[in-house]
Amino acid sequence: MTALKGRKQTPEHIAKRVASRAFKPWPQRDPMERFWEKVGDHTDPAACWEWKASGDKHGYGAFYLDGALTKAPRAAWRLLVGQIPEGMWVCHRCDNPPCVNPAHLFLGSRADNLSDMRRKSRGKVPGAGWSGALGENHRAAKLTWALVAEARERFSRGEILSALARDYGVTPPTMWAVVHRKTWKVA
Ligand SMILES: [Zn+2]
Repeated sequence: MTALKGRKQTPEHIAKRVASRAFKPWPQRDPMERFWEKVGDHTDPAACWEWKASGDKHGYGAFYLDGALTKAPRAAWRLLVGQIPEGMWVCHRCDNPPCVNPAHLFLGSRADNLSDMRRKSRGKVPGAGWSGALGENHRAAKLTWALVAEARERFSRGEILSALARDYGVTPPTMWAVVHRKTWKVA
């Protein structure tokens, strides 16, 4: 209850502050719990997981994280994958702004983000790059069942996603989906 530090805390004062909207108890709840409440159906690892709470005019959801309002896809990356290096953008492979599925997100520079948007708006690139790959038969698969088992073992021993992703030549969201058994499910 840091918001109330140094202030009078009688129930009457609290009621007054809640009513005046100066007191916002919701950001103090567990961010992960609040996050999932705002995400629609996320049972299919290959599908878009759409933000169902409020968003801006471009369709991006907004989420209160670490004391600041954050775009939902950035919040998803920080909660589920890891830190976002300074100056990097969280971009969509799926071209769907409300989507927060980590497997559909990637880190890019501002230039990547803009050239990506330009390319897509010209319509020269079919699809948005999401292959929906679920196993090693997919032509673009870089992983094999042996590597998947090894990566999961290393993850369970505490190795971090970004390092594993680099070692196995995949993106962090792809590795996230692998170690959380969202992809490569049937061994
Ligand atoms: Zn998506």
